[in-house]
Amino acid sequence: MAKFLFAFVVAGALLLLLASSSYVLAADADPIDDFCVADLSSNLIINGLVCVNPATVTGTDFKFTGFEKAGNTSNALGSAISPGFAGVNYPALNTQGLGFARFDYAKGGLIPPHTHPRATEVLYVAQGTLYAGFVDTNNKFYPTILNKGDLFVFPRGLVHFHLNVGNGPAFAIASFNSQNPGLQPIANALFGAQPPIEDGVLAKAFGIPITEVEIIKKGF
Ligand code: MN
Repeated sequence: MAKFLFAFVVAGALLLLLASSSYVLAADADPIDDFCVADLSSNLIINGLVCVNPATVTGTDFKFTGFEKAGNTSNALGSAISPGFAGVNYPALNTQGLGFARFDYAKGGLIPPHTHPRATEVLYVAQGTLYAGFVDTNNKFYPTILNKGDLFVFPRGLVHFHLNVGNGPAFAIASFNSQNPGLQPIANALFGAQPPIEDGVLAKAFGIPITEVEIIKKGF
């Protein structure tokens, strides 16, 4: 009986440990105030952003109107990213564990393969048709076609992309469960890093000649 009780207590302790570790894995720290509208003019560096005096905050501070028009997609990728982030242009999101972006795509426009090290992303397609997917840590690819009104979740930290495969322009809104998800485009990280990664490293990693590495690097 004592043995059974001991096993029961150990199992309980393990469950508690598992439950508490899920908090450790949460995207952002919990807020300790109702709100903390960011003071984007502050030079203080903390884990987050400094708050303005809450007594000066009004309803308007919580409103964001940055997604009302399309971004300029006249570029090599045929896409545009409009931010809605605490540290950029939406200070009311500070400490709320959320971030947003509007994506615009010309016909054939691409948001190239990238990761967000600190957030899961949910994409809502507001117009057009997208081919989107992510690759898990076993290199299994999960592609799909998204139409207007669809949502798609890109699990935290996994490589993903979206491509406009419709007959006209498209746009989508992304939400992130972090006020600072981080954006790391794979091609830029490897071929556009400064100072540059040695050609030999990339040649060996990709199984291509150094001359081809140099050609790819010129694109960044
Ligand atoms: Mn993304």
